[in-house]
Amino acid sequence: LNYQTAQFLTSAPTLAQCPPDSGAEVAFAGRSNAGKSSAINTLTRQKALARISKTPGRTQLINFFTLGDDVERRLVDLPGYGFAKVPEQVKLEWQRHLSDYLQRRASLRGLVLVMDVRHPLTEFDQTLLGWADDKAMRVHILLTKADKLKRGPAASALQQVRSRLREWEDLVSIQLFSSLKGQGIEEAHARLDDWLLD
Ligand code: GDP
Repeated sequence: LNYQTAQFLTSAPTLAQCPPDSGAEVAFAGRSNAGKSSAINTLTRQKALARISKTPGRTQLINFFTLGDDVERRLVDLPGYGFAKVPEQVKLEWQRHLSDYLQRRASLRGLVLVMDVRHPLTEFDQTLLGWADDKAMRVHILLTKADKLKRGPAASALQQVRSRLREWEDLVSIQLFSSLKGQGIEEAHARLDDWLLD
C-alpha cells in the first residue's frame, strides 16, 4: 500500500461519531510524547498529517485518515494518554472512549502501540495490551526514539520488552523505530500491509 497518499478523513470524539465501520483500519495509540504523531508522519512521509498540537485538557479526538481516496483502508490516530495535568474525570472519559473503540470497532485489524524505547510498557500501555488480548486483537509495538540509544542498549531494550511480553507472542510483534533517522519504516509498512490487505 502507498502510505504517502494518506489524507485526513474526519475526527470523532466518540465511537458513535466514527465513520462507517466497514473495510479495514489500523489504529495508533501511545502515551503522550512517546512519538506517535512523529511515527504517523514518518510512515506516511508527510510533515504534519498527525498534527503536533496537543493541548492538555482539550477534548481528545479520534482522527481518521484514508489511504488515497479509498475510505475502506484507514489509519487511525487515537488520543494520546498519560497527561499528568488532566483531571481524573477527563482521564476516565478518554479511557472509556478508547476502550469502546478498541472493543467494538469491527473494522479494526490491529493496533500499533508506540512506546519510547527508554520508557516502555507504562501502566496504561499494559492496560491497552490487556484490552487487546481480551479481543484477540493483534498489536505491533514501535519502540521509537531508538536513535536516543546506542545500538547495543537499543537491542537489549528490544529483547527485554520481547521477554516481558512472551506470553502474548502470538498476538504481539515488536520492533525498533526512529522517526528522526527513518529507522524501521519498511518493517512497520510490512506489518500494516499485512493487516490492511488481509
Ligand atoms: P506524541 O505525543 O506521541 O504524538 O509525540 P510526538 O510525535 O509529538 O513527539 C514528542 C517529542 O519527541 C517531539 O519533541 C519529537 O520531536 C520527539 N521525537 C519523536 N520521535 C522521535 C524520534 O524517533 N527520535 C527522536 N530523537 N525524537 C523523537
